[in-house]
Amino acid sequence: MPSNLDNRWTATEDDIIMHEHNTGATTQQIAGLVGRTRNAVCGRIWRLRNRGLIVEKPLPPPPPKKRVRKPPRYRNAAGPRPPAPIVVPPLPPNAIGRNLLELGSTDCRFIIDSDDRRAPTHLYCGADASAFADGGENCYCAYHQTRLRAR
Ligand SMILES: [Zn+2]
Repeated sequence: MPSNLDNRWTATEDDIIMHEHNTGATTQQIAGLVGRTRNAVCGRIWRLRNRGLIVEKPLPPPPPKKRVRKPPRYRNAAGPRPPAPIVVPPLPPNAIGRNLLELGSTDCRFIIDSDDRRAPTHLYCGADASAFADGGENCYCAYHQTRLRAR
């Protein structure tokens, strides 16, 4: 005779175990409900599961992973490329450097130098632009004409 003959699981206890287990109760809570030890409840659940009377619920999906932004990768180890240097066009050989008061009506008005401490502030190219004079509006020498069109 087995020693637990008087401790057989009743159908009512099995119903309680199956219901409570499926609703998410812990084995400790179920043990309190049926008046048995947690180990006894664990063993009963295992047997009920083997008989197909307890079906485990699928686990909830894991929480979404936080996206970690990777630092940008550069092609070479030296880091980002430095900005391209600003190319200052060289002065034409006939640049004179006149201020506005010295500038003739057909002299090139391309500013070649500026200094706030000087009055007038700007120095203009001053090269002859008479070949391009267009009613006083077109006022750059041949050199600065090509420079401005190249942009
Ligand atoms: Zn010029």
